[in-house]
Amino acid sequence: MTQDPYVSLKQEMIEKCRLLEKIGYFIGTWGNVSVRIPEGFLVTPSRVQYAVIEPRDFVTVSLGGTRLAGHCWPSSETEIHRAVLNKKSDVGAIIHSHSPYATAVSCLHQSIPVFVEDMAQIIGGEVRCTRYIPAGQHKEIAAEVGNTIGEENAVLLANHGVLCCGRDLEEGLVASQILEKAALMMLAAGGAGKMFPIPEDLVKSERYRFLYKYGTAHDAP
Ligand code: 13P
Ligand code: ZN
Repeated sequence: MTQDPYVSLKQEMIEKCRLLEKIGYFIGTWGNVSVRIPEGFLVTPSRVQYAVIEPRDFVTVSLGGTRLAGHCWPSSETEIHRAVLNKKSDVGAIIHSHSPYATAVSCLHQSIPVFVEDMAQIIGGEVRCTRYIPAGQHKEIAAEVGNTIGEENAVLLANHGVLCCGRDLEEGLVASQILEKAALMMLAAGGAGKMFPIPEDLVKSERYRFLYKYGTAHDAP
């Protein structure tokens, strides 16, 4: 039998899913993850508990939407992952979660402006919210997410949850945590007075700094 070249990547995906469940971003089997590979992308299977999932349960899907490998059904939200991976060539991994504060903002049908500098760096712009489309309408919700997400690395799915992107899985996880914190701050501080977003040109320059300078000699104090 040929060895699966993606076993360690799938194991990393399992670890991240279990962590996301532990921190309350995934609840039961709600929440899914994809990672880009040369053949297309790997995606978590639908309705498989993260406590018992194994590398062989993952599904390989082409960017055209063909199921290439895997014995399970791919996530019911595979079309959303596919739409974003097709639109954003810099994205290597996607985490769709039902994290509580971001989901709360999605129920307000509001955007999350860039109020804090970590969001400017890793998300790179205001996070917009889609119209409400039931999760079972796979093609419609994928089109809506694809039309709503821009250069920024996240989008809110109205009355449902959030989707965060990264160049890799670790970055997707950090983006999910930073967006959840931004949603919490917006809900907690919003009642205390007017909040001031970071001006758009400074969001762009902070994003550039994060991508090309942060942690290098070009950003040394
Ligand atoms: P799947 O188990 O099909 O990935 O669905 C999870 C989910 O997030 C539904 O909204
Ligand atoms: Zn969902």
